[in-house]
Order: sequence, then C-alpha cells, then structure tokens
Amino acid sequence: MKIGCPTEIKPQEFRVGLTPNAAREATGHGHAVVVQRGAGTGAGFADADYEAAGAAIVDTAEEVFDTADMIVKVKEPQAAERAMLREGQILFTYLHLAPDPVQTRELMHSGATCIAYETVTDDRGGLPLLAPMSEVAGRLAPQMGAWTLQKANGGRGVLMGGVPGVGPARVLVVGGGVVGTHAARIAAGMGADVTVLDRSLPRLRYLDDVFGGTFGTGYSSAGLLSEHLEQADMVIGAVLIPGAEAPKLVSRADLSRMKPGAALVDVAIDQGGCFETSKATTHADPVYDVDGIMHYCVANMPGAVARTSTIALGNATMPFMLALADKGWRQACADDPHLLAGLNVHAGRLTYYAVGRAQGIDV
Ligand code: NAD
Repeated sequence: MKIGCPTEIKPQEFRVGLTPNAAREATGHGHAVVVQRGAGTGAGFADADYEAAGAAIVDTAEEVFDTADMIVKVKEPQAAERAMLREGQILFTYLHLAPDPVQTRELMHSGATCIAYETVTDDRGGLPLLAPMSEVAGRLAPQMGAWTLQKANGGRGVLMGGVPGVGPARVLVVGGGVVGTHAARIAAGMGADVTVLDRSLPRLRYLDDVFGGTFGTGYSSAGLLSEHLEQADMVIGAVLIPGAEAPKLVSRADLSRMKPGAALVDVAIDQGGCFETSKATTHADPVYDVDGIMHYCVANMPGAVARTSTIALGNATMPFMLALADKGWRQACADDPHLLAGLNVHAGRLTYYAVGRAQGIDV
C-alpha cells in the first residue's frame, strides 16, 4: 500500500501524522510512504529523517493525495483537503464529525473510507487514540497555570512549590480522569498542595490507592467545590461527560469568592468548558481576565508541545496504521472491533451512529 502524509494546514497546527519512526515501520512492512516536503518541520523532523526511513518526499499536498492509498494526518481534513480525497482512499485522522455537518457531508461525498482516531476504542472502554493528547494536556495544564499565576501575566504572584517558610500554591483539579490525574501528578511534583475532585467513587478509590499521599481526593459536590474554590490559587477544569457538553461547575458569581489573580485552566474548553466564564483562546493570546480571575482556555493545548504530542500520538496510532496498511481496511476492521469502532464514513455513507443522531442522518 502507498501511505501518504501531507503537511497539516489548520492554523497553528504543528503536529504531523507520521513520525519518521512510523514511516520506517511502514517501509519495513513493505509499504511505500510519501511525505509532503516540510510536513515534519513543526514537530522538529527534517525531510532527511523521512528519507532515511525510506519515504519519498514530494512538493505538494496534491501529489500526496493523488497517489496515496491511505492518508494519515492529525487534524480533520480542511475544505481544500476534502476536495482532494477520492473514492476508495482511506483517511486515518481525528475527525470530530458530530458538530461538523459540512465536513460530514463532504467526506460522504468523497467516497473515501474515513476512520476517526477519536472513536477507536480499547478493551477497557477507553479511547486509546485520544488518551495521549489528554495526557499531554493534563501534564501541560499546571505548567501553563503556573505561568498564568506569575504577576507579569496578570496572576496572583504565587510560586507553585513555595519556598522554605512560605507555603505552596493550592491547586484544585476538577475531574480525575486522564487529564486530571496527569495534571495532579505534575502539580504535586512542582510542590503544590493538590486536591482532585471527581464524581466517580471507583475513580476516587483508584486515585487514593495509587496516589494517596501525593494529592488529596474529594467527591465533587457543589458544596465541597465551593469550599475549595475559595482557597485555590489555581483551578484546573478536567471534567468530561462522554458525548455531552461539559457541565458548568463554576459560575461567574463564584469568581467573586476566589482569591484575586487566581488562575483557571479550563482544559475541558474543547467540550464547551466547565467554567461559565470560559471562552476558547489560542496559543498566541491564551489568557484573559474576568473579574480579576485569569482564564487560560486554549482548545488545542497539545499543539504547544508539538514534538512531544506528535511522538505520543504516533506511538498510539502506529499499530492501527500498520494493520490498515498490511491487511486493507476491510480485513483490519473485521479482525479488530476496536478499529472498526473508528469507522465513521465509508463509500458515501455515514457509519457512526452518534454522528448520525447528532445530524439527523440515517446510519
Ligand atoms: P476522562 O473521561 O478520562 O475524565 C473525565 C473525568 O471527569 C471522569 O473521571 C469523570 O468521572 C469526571 N467528571 C464528570 N463529571 C464531573 C463532575 N461534575 N465533577 C467532577 N468530575 C466529574 O476525560 P479526559 O480524557 O481526562 O478529558 C477531560 C477533558 O479534557 C475533555 O473535555 C477532553 O475533551 C479535554 N481535553 C482538552 C484538551 C485541550 O487541548 N484543551 C486536550 C485533551 C483533552
């Protein structure tokens, strides 16, 4: 099979769908790999790295789309890319179709077979191609929150770990899933005094078993959240209710009871955010002030650390990419129901129920 990797064209996207190591695995399996010139630059990979892995470099996205049997990307295809997809071609990337009827219609129209990273599943009910990005965003959240807390950035002027004789920052993490656990670990590692709130008792038991002593846990009731809010220097929003908008757990009125200059880091902003006052921001202008509380609400946090994110995503996608290339999509999906769960569009039809329900399309 010929595997193609174009340069990402969505604004501020520096990741790349194939790492040189993934390209090497593919060529080692006997596949041809074609990569657009400069595709890896944003993630710190040179064209020569791909050539050393046996890939061919071409100048344009058209040359990638025209010749490849499977396109491997990061972000959903943009309009210009959707126009280049063709019948029978495999597209393997993040799609996030539910809120995007235009993309859904154009992918159906293309006749391509589109497998979405975000709906591939695993044996434990998890989403293995979303988890690496949640790990990245979780570990990045205290780092960005610590920056936001600095005086020059509008924050309270509090150091995460304190110093001898001065107490540490108090960090509240709301939601103890993948993002929240990684955020809490890093914040605690920076020396902060960390509490994680979740609504799942099994999850709280797990966190207590594994991290008891590193950070505290609490059941996420409105009352307990309110108590912790008043004490917090930083609040990290990391809740998820699958398939739904994030619940608004902190209202604008709540802000007036917080310490002036406290930092809110709303990682859940990609699901609408869990603070009433959250609105999506960009890496170029990440922080804004509401009533003296500094909000960091970047919707694509992993893009800030494109190299780490690219390698982490590539580690997770590689076995699926190889299965698709080795067996063809039909056999690979027949052999692996978790990969089949990723199939969203095939030969002009929508094949993913939740997207159909969201858009009123028969599946
Ligand atoms: P997850 O499913 O692993 O964890 C979510 C947790 O929230 C669960 O443990 C759940 O019990 C808990 N929860 C639900 N309602 C709650 C409530 N009312 N109070 C407290 N906890 C509650 O999800 P995740 O992978 O950790 O992702 C969390 C959010 O981060 C998602 O919205 C995800 O889309 C987002 N995310 C954003 C970025 C970004 O760049 N901004 C990157 C990755 C993930």
